[in-house]
Amino acid sequence: MKNKTKGIYIHIPFCRKKCNYCDFLSFPAGDELKTNYIEALVRELHLSEQINGKYEVDSVYIGGGTPSVLKPELMEKLLKAVNETFNLKKDCEFTVECNPGTLDKEKIRTFADGGVNRVSLGVQSLDEAHLKRLGRIHTRTDVFSSLNELRLAGIDNINLDLMFSLPDQTLADWDETLQRTLWFDPAHVSFYGLTLEEGTPMYEDFKSGLIEAYEDDEDRELYYHALNLLESKGYVHYEISNAAKPGKESKHNLKYWTMMDYIGFGLGAHSFNEGVRFSNTTDIDTYISCYYGSTPVKLEREWVHENSEKENIEEFMFTGLRLVRGVSASYFKELFGKKIEAVYGEEFNKLIDHGFMEKVGDYYRFTSYGMDLANVSLREFV
Ligand code: SF4
Repeated sequence: MKNKTKGIYIHIPFCRKKCNYCDFLSFPAGDELKTNYIEALVRELHLSEQINGKYEVDSVYIGGGTPSVLKPELMEKLLKAVNETFNLKKDCEFTVECNPGTLDKEKIRTFADGGVNRVSLGVQSLDEAHLKRLGRIHTRTDVFSSLNELRLAGIDNINLDLMFSLPDQTLADWDETLQRTLWFDPAHVSFYGLTLEEGTPMYEDFKSGLIEAYEDDEDRELYYHALNLLESKGYVHYEISNAAKPGKESKHNLKYWTMMDYIGFGLGAHSFNEGVRFSNTTDIDTYISCYYGSTPVKLEREWVHENSEKENIEEFMFTGLRLVRGVSASYFKELFGKKIEAVYGEEFNKLIDHGFMEKVGDYYRFTSYGMDLANVSLREFV
């Protein structure tokens, strides 16, 4: 598999404070570490083999962590390096993840001047008590002022990340968060149920009985409430946990779900390029020491894995079936040179018979019943 266009992911591992549920590669850091990291990251970009128009880039995603904790001068340096390094398509989707507690006019202006045209805002909830419990650094007022400032700067393509199944959250709480955020008419909404990841403070609270996990039917009630409301406001549900105004689906995330190529830069960044998965080191001292200084050394990848055809097919199914439209039989044939039914005919028949799947035109997809049990249904394909 070789794509003409690529996506670029850039990881900023810094957060002002670790949230109580988070197990991402992120941590607080002082000014010196941030400066050295950006210096190293810019070197990694400049050393990349992708320079000079070898191919076109149609999506850039700066994620984290919290990229918006960077001071404007560091962000400006990074954005300049991205623009210099890659052959960005005219309609390139250029996203930065932001925390509403870290945004101000100057930072937003830096994004806009550097070509950023989409912001993904980690809102999670508009209930102050829930935000506190999650360990978020922002208030609901920060959310409203961030949205206003982004719009004033002309950044209109905004995703809001929301979370449900929070401890003690009622349907009315969730409805209020949804109604108030939708009032801002965001282009895209991601809505995920809280998962209690081992090693986080919230997981410890769960283990010691301080918080209760949601029953499946309660979780589904909150999920479908969001989905129905979003659909009633003109959003298209296109992935299990994502809905967008028509034409505003995330180009970058669609790459992950359709096995398209993307290259990752920065600490712990993952890549998938021409059938090979690889990742950078997760050790920040190693990362900085390779790229920082007068004679940067190209970093050895932490791991590299060339997918077998079987793995490519399994990943294609596993990621593609998260999409509401499902997987295309003709695209499968184009990629793998065989009919999808020759590989998964038996599994399809079984899942269709049980009401988990359906075939619509060229696509095999989960029914809403199958989607609810996606974790179980997907096991048939690996
Ligand atoms: S802001 Fe995001 S990445 Fe940072 S600690 Fe919170 S959840 Fe994790």
